[in-house]
Amino acid sequence: MFNFIIFGPPGSGKGTQSVQIAEKYNLAHISTGEIFRKNIREKTELGIKVQSIIESGELVPDELLVAILEDAMDSRNGVSGFVFDGFPRTIQQAKDLEVCLKKRNDAVSMVLALEVNDEEIVERLLKRAQDQGRKDDTREVIENRILVYNNQTQPLCSYYKDQELLISINGIGSIDEIFNKICELINARI
Ligand code: AMP
Repeated sequence: MFNFIIFGPPGSGKGTQSVQIAEKYNLAHISTGEIFRKNIREKTELGIKVQSIIESGELVPDELLVAILEDAMDSRNGVSGFVFDGFPRTIQQAKDLEVCLKKRNDAVSMVLALEVNDEEIVERLLKRAQDQGRKDDTREVIENRILVYNNQTQPLCSYYKDQELLISINGIGSIDEIFNKICELINARI
């Protein structure tokens, strides 16, 4: 199995790239943000619990992620692996993912970090707010999400670097350029 983590600040393009990578390599795309948004739309118990957290740009508590992850992985058969998009976001989640994969005699194969500077991110997310109307794409929430990313998620870079799993690329460029670069890196690994 090829278990690929795509990692980057909000607005770095990881969602767009994940969809294309999943399709090309027959991987299941797991976006925890999408799972939460679906639950909020459907007003499930989970959705009601996480709505205000997500709308403030904070992270949903780690303990809620484990069940979601297991569920998402169990519901996908016949794939050659997973693309994890927006997960893990904390060191604890990275450890939980390892346990979950180990249970399946599996492991993380590769972590790709998309590097995009803060000014570019704010600009991209404000544009996305106009196009998609996401509730967490207001300037105030965007600034908080960047702060949360830098404080809680960025430390994962050195965690995966130490395990020699991390590859960083510049996330500024056309969607196709970045996709081709990612494919080259994946092809060199599989
Ligand atoms: P995303 O679509 O990945 O930007 O996620 C949107 C929001 O969902 C985040 O700002 C968090 O509030 C929440 N979220 C998504 N994935 C996670 C995660 N792995 N851990 C904690 N919160 C998450």
